[in-house]
Amino acid sequence: MDKPSPSPNPVSRPFREACGREELVYQHCAGCGSAQYYPRSLCTHCSSAALEWRVSTGRGTVYSYTDVFRAPNEAFKADVPYVIAVIDVTEGFRVLTNVLAETGKVKIGSGVHAVFEDRGAVKLLQFALDTQSG
Ligand SMILES: [Zn+2]
Repeated sequence: MDKPSPSPNPVSRPFREACGREELVYQHCAGCGSAQYYPRSLCTHCSSAALEWRVSTGRGTVYSYTDVFRAPNEAFKADVPYVIAVIDVTEGFRVLTNVLAETGKVKIGSGVHAVFEDRGAVKLLQFALDTQSG
């Protein structure tokens, strides 16, 4: 069994293409100034359709996380244990993602940065822990 792959639609295609360039992009609302992720056709704050794409620094902190010890299916068996987290990205949006780190190393507030997993036809957004100093 292969891991599932995203199927881009007209709304999400710019995001998926940016992942291919190893860039994290998000939607910025020209109507109210909100940042939005994941891609949608309208702003979730003010319902404006005036959404523009911006490039994120890809930097953030862990808002919450969980360690996964039981694979949801055969495709993920070799990956356990792994970490799923909600990341507060610097530009003001949250991403539900994997953090590529050993379980026990990720903490609430840990600094992270975007990385991209090459799965052949697509590159997937994930995050990794910032290098600790000291
Ligand atoms: Zn808005």
